[in-house]
Amino acid sequence: MSTSHEGVWNACLKVIKDNISLQAFKTWFDPIVPIRLENSVLTIQVPSHFFYEWLEENYITLLKKVIKKELGTDGTLEYSIVMENNTTNSTPYTVKLPALNKKSIKNAPVTMPINLNENQIRNPFIIPGLKKVNVDSNLNPSYSFENFVEGDCNRLARASGYAVANKPGGTAFNPLLIYGGVGLGKTHLAHAIGISIKNQFPNKTVLYVGSEKFAHQFIDAIKNQTTNDFIHFYQMIDVLIIDDVQFFSGKEKTQDVFFHIFNHLHQNGKQIILTSDKPPVEMQGMEQRLLSRFKWGLSADLGAPDLETRIAILEKKMYGNGIELPRDVVEYLAYSINTNVREMEGALNTLLAQASLNKKAITLELAKQMVDKFVKNTAREVSIEYIQKVVCDYFDLPIEMLKSKTRKREVVQARQISMYFSKKMTKSSLANIGAHCGGKDHATVLHACRTVMNLSETDKQFRVYLEDLEKKLTIQ
Ligand code: ADP
Ligand code: MG
Repeated sequence: MSTSHEGVWNACLKVIKDNISLQAFKTWFDPIVPIRLENSVLTIQVPSHFFYEWLEENYITLLKKVIKKELGTDGTLEYSIVMENNTTNSTPYTVKLPALNKKSIKNAPVTMPINLNENQIRNPFIIPGLKKVNVDSNLNPSYSFENFVEGDCNRLARASGYAVANKPGGTAFNPLLIYGGVGLGKTHLAHAIGISIKNQFPNKTVLYVGSEKFAHQFIDAIKNQTTNDFIHFYQMIDVLIIDDVQFFSGKEKTQDVFFHIFNHLHQNGKQIILTSDKPPVEMQGMEQRLLSRFKWGLSADLGAPDLETRIAILEKKMYGNGIELPRDVVEYLAYSINTNVREMEGALNTLLAQASLNKKAITLELAKQMVDKFVKNTAREVSIEYIQKVVCDYFDLPIEMLKSKTRKREVVQARQISMYFSKKMTKSSLANIGAHCGGKDHATVLHACRTVMNLSETDKQFRVYLEDLEKKLTIQ
């Protein structure tokens, strides 16, 4: 039995790994660092308060078990949380495992350094009747959590959004900043949080506003000399969602007014949710004091969805619209549009529109034509993934075999053909192609390409395979 903190924690991890999914393990246990073991108290460092809450809610039983197993009944786990939302005091604080309950967290010293010397804004509620104004939340009901497909690419963002929705203003994620590339679901997720809050807390005033609209309203307010009303209006919101804050870049006055609104809301325990196309560190033209506030809470990124998630998203949209498409069409869409969910949805809609307009059945052929028209401008090429899929379908092999190390003849051949087409039809490097085909190096890929070319000259049957496949892979 090990007595070092690393040794004990590693032993715990072994058991944990066997009991949860690999993805969950990577997300929630890889980032943990054991820091000491004293008198049967094992201290582990977690990256954030959110992390701690998540572990507590989802893995506490498992954690208790493994700690007991490794350290005996006296064994105790202590968390050390790196405070991310406290700019003045970065010393981690600890929460003891046996005292695990929400209260101990609530009482933890989470202090927000607010500079009271900044131009303080008066309490807007002194304006009589203002609170009665019925604020239209501007939420789109179809952008709900139910319609938001979960995948590895969005797990943290979705989970933190969910946590915020259940406890607006009451979690450490304030503000919650969701960032990610175009069309990856930032707006959808921001709406989902708002919708869920409205459902659960009907008395809360929720407001969604695009940052552009916010900026225009502010300019109008300056023109009409109603800036006070503008500020007061925003200060009475309980849950403020501002979409695409990167738009504030370079707009000093707008940033200034937002800064004051932000401070007021935050000081009063109101929830702020922001989205941006980049993380705070990369936001140019944004005032430092505003950036530092963005970092107080949690920044969660949305990545590009993987294939399974893309298929699930398409299926959800189809289901929502009461339509059904052939499986190969769905897969084709998911395979060929892989960086932007909005674009994929657009292709689906265009396809449906075309089919109903021309009273044509939706076939793979039609899908190929549609996608070609639809994503022409984005310099599309078939992906290695798609090539592998077509080749595997053709030879009736599971795609995992292709990516495995197996040396079975028919698998080797399919693998080599995939490499050959990947080289021919994509701009990927040999090394990248190799990485996609079971971790082969560039020399192996080169060898594969040569083998395929030689065979196509000498083996008639093989040439037929290649021609068939080439047809399938070429998009008319
Ligand atoms: P962004 O604001 O990041 O540019 P949007 O939120 O507007 O992207 O998303 C673009 C489209 O993709 C929307 O129609 C949205 O419903 C859809 N979408 C994105 N991610 C998902 C997801 N995980 N599940 C379901 N639909 C999604
Ligand atoms: Mg958006």
